[in-house]
Amino acid sequence: MKTANKNYLSKQYKKDDKLLISHNYLKLQFKNSNKIISDIKKLIKKGDYTLGKAVDEAEEKFKKISNSKYAIGVNSGTDAIILSLRAIGIKKGDEVITTPYTFYATIGAIVTAGAKPVFVDIQNDYNIDVKKIERAITKKTKAILPVHWSGLICDMKKISKLAKKNNIFIIEDACHAINALRDGENPGKYSIAACYSMHPLKNLNVWGDGGFITTNSKKFYEKLLLLRNHGLINRDTCKVFAGNSRLDTIQAIVAKHLINKIQYITNKRIKNANFFDKEFSSIPEIILPTRYKNSKQVFHIYVIRAKKRDLLKKYLIKHGIDAKIHYPLPMHLQPAAKKYGYRKGDFPNCELICKSVLSLPVHEFISNKQRNYVAKVIKNFYKNY
Ligand SMILES: *Cc1c(COP(=O)(O)O)cnc(C)c1O
Repeated sequence: MKTANKNYLSKQYKKDDKLLISHNYLKLQFKNSNKIISDIKKLIKKGDYTLGKAVDEAEEKFKKISNSKYAIGVNSGTDAIILSLRAIGIKKGDEVITTPYTFYATIGAIVTAGAKPVFVDIQNDYNIDVKKIERAITKKTKAILPVHWSGLICDMKKISKLAKKNNIFIIEDACHAINALRDGENPGKYSIAACYSMHPLKNLNVWGDGGFITTNSKKFYEKLLLLRNHGLINRDTCKVFAGNSRLDTIQAIVAKHLINKIQYITNKRIKNANFFDKEFSSIPEIILPTRYKNSKQVFHIYVIRAKKRDLLKKYLIKHGIDAKIHYPLPMHLQPAAKKYGYRKGDFPNCELICKSVLSLPVHEFISNKQRNYVAKVIKNFYKNY
């Protein structure tokens, strides 16, 4: 098997940087960052780098935009999930039901918390197939961990009914779904916790890593406070031995500035997605992302299913458009999953979807001219292939 590459990310960034229309918009986004820098200079005068005032302020703001009683800043989306699993008391041997169509961190968090991931196939909307969840529940099932892929919230009402009936927790991987709604409700309405990421390329981002957990339970919130900061009640009293998952004060400053812009970011992404929906609806070789009337999908990524996907991807890159595959190999077929004994064919819909998905840049810095160009290039491809 291949061994780990010391730092493949810097090479990746260099490659992506050459494209005209990239998934990565960070240079544009922070071209003028004087206000953030000025707040960071104030922090340097004060020196409260760990759990400083900005962390509390960012949590207040995040609580409001996610309509939850409590929000807690942590150092990544991955830790948001790990801490939530620990706070419901996950122990070795417990099972957590989730989707094989997700980013590695969802499964990494389950395994790091000590549990066993149990996969359930996905629906055509890329989210966990709600009809198939019950079959996967056993005596060992402790939680369901749905992922709101590309910012489309799962059918949480149905999942919540199942969870109540079987007396299990729900923890939501809402890393793609900040500001998303379904039936008028944000992530977190039907679960003990919703977990968010502020990775630089998530819809709400910081200058490194960061995340949030929201909850409506005071008891759960208090557990999270302990787990985030060494299990300390105060400087001299440790209630549980735990790790350090604090949101950095510098990142909280960046987060505060960007939370103010989240409505604009969301609306712009939705507009771009609507445009692509309309343009591609006349191309029979493309299946559009599922849209529900009762849903506000926030489009962390815009994912189509495309015939001749690999050729289309090459063609788009040749024309300066950063088409990416999220992700070519599902979680149950990754080398890391070998010990769980899954095989090819176990989740046919997921496997089929992974063979045809393609993500196009949909972010708020895509201009009208650029999105016209993307549509034109794709239409040309299907005229000529
Ligand atoms: C980004 C992401 C995570 C992890 O977030 P980090 O902040 O990078 O740790 C977890 N789940 C999903 C679905 C993600 O996209």
